[in-house]
Amino acid sequence: MGTIGKKIVGLDVEELIEMLNKALADEWLAVYQYWVGSKIVKGPMRPQVEVELKEHQGEELEHANMLADRIVQLGGDPIVDFNDIAKQSGCGYEVPNDPHVKNILKQNIKGEQCAIETYHKILEKVKLGNDPITFNMIRKIMEDEVEHEEDLQAIQEDIEMIK
Ligand code: FE
Ligand code: FE
Ligand code: MG
Repeated sequence: MGTIGKKIVGLDVEELIEMLNKALADEWLAVYQYWVGSKIVKGPMRPQVEVELKEHQGEELEHANMLADRIVQLGGDPIVDFNDIAKQSGCGYEVPNDPHVKNILKQNIKGEQCAIETYHKILEKVKLGNDPITFNMIRKIMEDEVEHEEDLQAIQEDIEMIK
């Protein structure tokens, strides 16, 4: 923990750490959602969908990394008990009981939409100036989530066009 680096944050640091840990839990579940989806998905455009899911999986893991590093910088601990991942997650996990590509896409789109809303709320709390470092990090993550939603919805549209 950097003493002055933590002191300049114009927010309740404990509350911020809790918020970032909740987002970290969401990211880990997103990693698993994409990972397992890429393994079981079946249906039209399977190869392209697999590639996209795997790519997003890697990006969600990178988000988890960024969040964990910032939590440590702020003097906190990233969630250490794996059981707390599901408990603390805000966006949750959708069990992919149906491996059809349409269902896998639907579930992941729902996750992305929840992520966008979650990060939007965090950005509101971390308004520029109060904590520009967290602000910039969340803005970067949010850019990826907006891209993820669009990527998946574009595939969904293409699949709908198959006659
Ligand atoms: Fe993410
Ligand atoms: Fe995402
Ligand atoms: Mg993509």
